[in-house]
Amino acid sequence: MDLVVGGGVVGLSIAWRLARSGRPVTLVDPAPASGASHAAAGMLAPVSEVSYTEEPLLRLGVASLARWPSFAAELAADAGLSADAGPDPRGGLGADGGLLAAARAGLDLRADGTLDVAFGADDLAALGELAAFMEKLGLPVERLTGRECRRLEPMLAPSVRGGLLARTDAWVDPRRVTAALLAALERRGVPVVRARVSELLREGDRVTGVRLEPATGPREIAAERVVLAAGAWSGGLADVPVRPVKGQIMRLRAAQPLLGRCVRGTVHGTPVYLVPRGDGELVVGATQEELGFDTRVTAGGLYELLRDARELVPGVTELEVADVVAGLRPGTPDNLPIVGPSGTPGLTLATGHHRGGVLLAPLTAAIVQGEEADLATFCSPARFRDIS
Ligand code: FAD
Repeated sequence: MDLVVGGGVVGLSIAWRLARSGRPVTLVDPAPASGASHAAAGMLAPVSEVSYTEEPLLRLGVASLARWPSFAAELAADAGLSADAGPDPRGGLGADGGLLAAARAGLDLRADGTLDVAFGADDLAALGELAAFMEKLGLPVERLTGRECRRLEPMLAPSVRGGLLARTDAWVDPRRVTAALLAALERRGVPVVRARVSELLREGDRVTGVRLEPATGPREIAAERVVLAAGAWSGGLADVPVRPVKGQIMRLRAAQPLLGRCVRGTVHGTPVYLVPRGDGELVVGATQEELGFDTRVTAGGLYELLRDARELVPGVTELEVADVVAGLRPGTPDNLPIVGPSGTPGLTLATGHHRGGVLLAPLTAAIVQGEEADLATFCSPARFRDIS
């Protein structure tokens, strides 16, 4: 039996894919779907998130984005989602059918691209350089003038001077995804044990199961393989170089969607993004703070988010505040996830997804199942010594 520790988007995806492939699996988490995955904006945006030093991350992201349509369609089927909204007439993620329509409706999966905008001459020059870099990598981006940006997104500030459109980028509602994954696990009869793992059980040099915190049912669960997917908390159970990176994020509510696609930009030197949901919600994110396991929502964090979002889309200040949370991204020293067999027999790692765990969940689940050997080398635990 495989035992997955952690029920965020990563652990849930792994458990679900293992169950689909016929493996007996159990998941343990005191509060599934409550970690970073609850906070995440849900951008599936490998292209617009690319940076000059992160080509391996880009390759992982592009490969995982390609998996999202079938992952979502199969999840919609397993979770019993229906396409209440009817077939989606838009283009986008490719292969269609009732299930993808159900995924679009049920998971709010959309593929209308990301628009990265610039204000000043410096911003514009930086976007131009980024566009050249992306074009060199063969990534599909379009350079737009300020007027073209506003034609696409009429609510943008008049001061926007130009932009870059990454048409293939997509997004999804992570809260709906984790709810669907939990429903799919339940429908497949996968046990979800609501308890905290206090330590990994070891016999000799092997991991053989987990010990649970007292008073939470059976104290120990034996397993042939433990998959550690406890996000920012993974370092408490094994020697993995994962640290919490705090992100504050806000959800605003509008009667009508304010934007048609994800919009991002750099304001006062800080990146800010706006992600529209189908029901009119607008997600504004996110801060990046190195403060340990601190999940307080602060006045300063919210002020910065709103101040910067207003520069992009002045109308945001009219919206109702629906939700504010802080989540802990599982950061790693090289910003790449840590996925695959650890140096210890019986222990597989699936952690360290930092800013991209929602995007990377389908690929991570595939790697844990032994697929994608080439891409797996980028996130192999072997690149860090002494993981045990
Ligand atoms: P988590 O979701 O944190 O889940 C870890 C789980 O482990 C939790 O449920 C916790 O209860 C459980 N756990 C912890 N300790 C134990 C234990 N001892 N025993 C049992 N269970 C335990 N990613 C994207 O792809 N796109 C985005 O747009 C995006 N936006 C983000 C915005 C913000 C503000 C933040 C904070 C993150 C964002 N991310 C985004 C990153 C993404 O949220 C993470 O990479 C992803 O959620 C990590 O998933 P996970 O399952 O590894 O961890």
